[in-house]
Amino acid sequence: MKVALFGRDGKVGRTLVPALEAAGHEVRGFELGDPIDVAGFDAAVDFTAPDAVAENVRAALEQDVPCVVGTTGCDLAPLGELARDRGLALFQAPNFAIGAVLMMRFTAEAAAYLPRVEIVELHNEAKRDAPSGTAKATAELVPDGAAIHSVRLPGLVAHQEVLLAGEGQLLTIRHDTFTRDAFVPGVLLALERLPELPPGLTVGLESLL
Ligand code: NAP
Repeated sequence: MKVALFGRDGKVGRTLVPALEAAGHEVRGFELGDPIDVAGFDAAVDFTAPDAVAENVRAALEQDVPCVVGTTGCDLAPLGELARDRGLALFQAPNFAIGAVLMMRFTAEAAAYLPRVEIVELHNEAKRDAPSGTAKATAELVPDGAAIHSVRLPGLVAHQEVLLAGEGQLLTIRHDTFTRDAFVPGVLLALERLPELPPGLTVGLESLL
């Protein structure tokens, strides 16, 4: 596919460019300030920032390009309506790492028996939004809700611990992302499935598995 990548020079973007090319995609990277000229591309991928993603996605949709979004901290529902009106797919995942998706699934299962839940999410100090999109999505799976504690420190990539308490016991479910390679298979899967997705917003890697 011919892919436009917003956030080319970012931490995720720098990993994605060679990985998408190695998978056979033709990639053109865009950085802040570049004209958003993506007409004719098969897909746009956005890993930028909460205050940048909406403009990029809107521009891509208006040029008839379906989108895969990894950027968190922005509500894409209004753009989902634009995508539906234009007959285009807009896919967003709060976490493209399969281990994180499994962590969320196991949390939903365990919370039915251990309903007192708190979440600790730990990310690199450069991450602008808190709590993380993954933590918010996990909390929504807990029937009684879950408090979220956010940690931002140098050296971290993306980590989350879900603590589920019962009488005299504690279950901990933990996922660690050590390198941004963890997000590559999920992004490749989203690109592969993008042409079959219904028009409008689809959220979560689990909806592709
Ligand atoms: P990052 O290192 O800050 O990279 C973001 C890149 O986007 C920077 O190079 C930035 O340039 C660039 N940028 C900013 N505005 C732009 C615009 N309007 N158009 C094009 N490029 C623009 O961040 P990151 O760690 O790569 O993460 C990016 C986003 O993805 C964050 O929201 C993060 O939370 C999210 N994320 C999601 C997942 C997931 O699995 N869903 C995984 C990892 C990260 P400047 O430096 O010049 O501003």
